[in-house]
Amino acid sequence: MSTELFYVVKYRTRQRDAVLRVVTEEGKPLSAQKIIERADQLCPGIGAATVFRTLKQAVESGEVSKVELPGLAPHYEIATADHHHFFVCENCHELQPLEGCLDDLSKLLPIGSRMKHHEIVIFGECSNCLER
Ligand SMILES: [Zn+2]
Ligand SMILES: [Zn+2]
Repeated sequence: MSTELFYVVKYRTRQRDAVLRVVTEEGKPLSAQKIIERADQLCPGIGAATVFRTLKQAVESGEVSKVELPGLAPHYEIATADHHHFFVCENCHELQPLEGCLDDLSKLLPIGSRMKHHEIVIFGECSNCLER
């Protein structure tokens, strides 16, 4: 590997690490905008295009999950095997993962139908907003 290429690869790795670190450390899904702001603190000058590219690759490789909810920009969180849903604060638009799911959603289904998948989103005001 040439020295120049070595530094390009190293720099790209640093950018990628910064993006993944932001997503990992937060513990809740973040919008691309927030990830750009925080990744820029870890890796100044990283730029939106790099963050978007890194996120896209991480979603494709299964390291990061893209959370798409109605009325909100896509959010990103570290992929886990746990089935979970989200709480959305209607005031600050932050997402928080919820633990677990409801038992027996199939009770709600129309007679004779079968559930394949589901989404549950709870909207409200988060504790930070309520304290203000
Ligand atoms: Zn809030
Ligand atoms: Zn569920």
